[in-house]
Amino acid sequence: MKNSVALFLMLAVAIWAHGQPTDRRDTVPIVPRSSWEAQPAKPFKQHVPVQITVHHEGGKRLMPSDDARQRLNNIQRWCMGPDRNWADIPYHLLIAADGTVYEGRNPLTMGETNTDYDPTGHLLICFLGNYNEQQLDEKLLQVLIDLLVDSCIKYKISPTAISTHRDHSQQTACPGEDIYAYFKSGYVVDEVKERMDN
Ligand SMILES: [Zn+2]
Repeated sequence: MKNSVALFLMLAVAIWAHGQPTDRRDTVPIVPRSSWEAQPAKPFKQHVPVQITVHHEGGKRLMPSDDARQRLNNIQRWCMGPDRNWADIPYHLLIAADGTVYEGRNPLTMGETNTDYDPTGHLLICFLGNYNEQQLDEKLLQVLIDLLVDSCIKYKISPTAISTHRDHSQQTACPGEDIYAYFKSGYVVDEVKERMDN
């Protein structure tokens, strides 16, 4: 009797272990797009992310007390409207000022841009607000680094393939001076490398 209980437990553990993803690290929860009442996306080109580009929204600041979900809804409406006529909100993941990460466009759908670079193969991570006028706090910086580690593991992307929008286009100051400083110094990429090694 004891043996059969032990056998059952071993089997249960083996089945549980088998079901655990080994190539994922979901440290940062991603809040689904239904939370910001997203409109359904229009069909668009598929791609596989092979690099990651960090952006900010630009324009208006967004503070932790502001309504990030309303902002996301507004961005999508504007981008899908007559001004841009895009398929969806242009970014795959969006970070609000309180550190919440929201689901944007399907990561397996290519992003869209108003500048002169080709976003094919880019996973686009965007901070809501304007980081020429506001600053990352320690919490936001850690959320960014954790989200980058999660994404590198999930899509098998090297940390050396992480960059910012302005690295690809001279037409923009995106992702803003404050965020860019952490990339220029090498801090963000070094931290991602270190956490992926551990
Ligand atoms: Zn950008």
